[in-house]
Amino acid sequence: MSSVEKIPIQRPPASTFRKARVDLDKTEFDALIENKGYDAYIDKAIKCPCLGRGHHARLDCVNCLGTGWIFIDRTKTKLVSQSMDTSTKYEGWSELNYGQARITARDVDLMGFMDRVTIIDGSATTTQVLEAMEVNGSTVVRFIYDPKEITDIYVYAGADKKLQRLIEGTDYSHSGNTLTLSSFFEDKLDIRLVARYTHSPQFHVVEMYREAMTARIKNRNTDQDEVVLMPVGAIARRSHYVFDEEDFLNFVSPDNSSPTILGGIEYVLNFGLS
Ligand SMILES: [Zn+2]
Repeated sequence: MSSVEKIPIQRPPASTFRKARVDLDKTEFDALIENKGYDAYIDKAIKCPCLGRGHHARLDCVNCLGTGWIFIDRTKTKLVSQSMDTSTKYEGWSELNYGQARITARDVDLMGFMDRVTIIDGSATTTQVLEAMEVNGSTVVRFIYDPKEITDIYVYAGADKKLQRLIEGTDYSHSGNTLTLSSFFEDKLDIRLVARYTHSPQFHVVEMYREAMTARIKNRNTDQDEVVLMPVGAIARRSHYVFDEEDFLNFVSPDNSSPTILGGIEYVLNFGLS
């Protein structure tokens, strides 16, 4: 079979006679993000191989915790985030645009679909009902987000009883998204708590509306046009609207970033990672 390369049809160039040329300045855009942006973490999203052909994640998968997604290589950067909850008209409100943000990031961040974005210094408030579980002999509950401050926390003692407030240090301690209850709560796995807490706002990229914007810019040294990548634009959604609450609760995800493989990949496949 002969392979004849197909040549695409060429459109004639548009006339630029007497038209002023305006170059976009990449450094201006990048500087704007640097100067006006928020400190943020970006965790790269990769699909979990447990999905297989059926596209159903395994609930017992320790890599993705049954969500089908793994987040790796946390990078600290700056980006511009703008809330999209600006509509106050009742008609405009829907679950669809609630908790969404428009994010602009520099091209070097290589942002992609489902990447997790945490606005470090931002503050959001969440209230959550927490169910107890046993981990390593202790009674614990897990939050969706890592609390900065737990402003209110109560134990639910039954429909006919008042809520009982818990005291930090005496009744519980917390680290990351895990709250460990005191030994008084040992084996009391049927209890439920309710908490209100502040945390850094966290989002997942659900749409890249400006994935790769390129601009031709004249290099002043060579006088040649160069194609440069401009900042990208994404729509992101608060994590608890993207994943089910249970997805945050079962385990703490192992860190899959830059795994160290002792004994080589053959060892891991035969004996598993400890
Ligand atoms: Zn998995």
